[in-house]
Amino acid sequence: MDQARKEKFAAKLKALLMDLEGEAAQTVDGMRGETGMFPDPTDRATLETDRNLTLRIRDRERKLRDKINESLARVEDGTFGICEVCGDEIGETRLEARPMTTLCIKCKEVQEKDEIKEKRG
Ligand SMILES: [Zn+2]
Repeated sequence: MDQARKEKFAAKLKALLMDLEGEAAQTVDGMRGETGMFPDPTDRATLETDRNLTLRIRDRERKLRDKINESLARVEDGTFGICEVCGDEIGETRLEARPMTTLCIKCKEVQEKDEIKEKRG
C-alpha cells in the first residue's frame, strides 16, 4: 500500500476514534446525575436496565476503540490492508467500508460459514 493510501486510512481511523470518544463522553454524562431521581421501584428497575445497557454499550465502544488502535498500528507497521489469514491484499472497497477488518472477503466468508456450523453444533 502506498503512502497516500496509508495516510488516507490513518486519517479515517483517527476520525472514527474521535467520533467514538465524543460518544463515550456523552455516555458518561448520561450516567451522572441519575441517582435518587426515581423513587418508584419500577422506574428504578428501568434505570438498572438502562445502566446495564449503558455498560454494554461502553464495553462495545472499548472493544471498537481497541480495534481501531490495532488498525492504526497496522498502518504504522505496514500490515494494514493485508489479510491475516491468507496474506492477500484486502480489496480497497472492503477497507473503505470496514477499515478495521483484518480479513479479505474470501477468508471472512469462510470464517462466517465456520461460525454458522459451530452454532448449529
Ligand atoms: Zn484472506
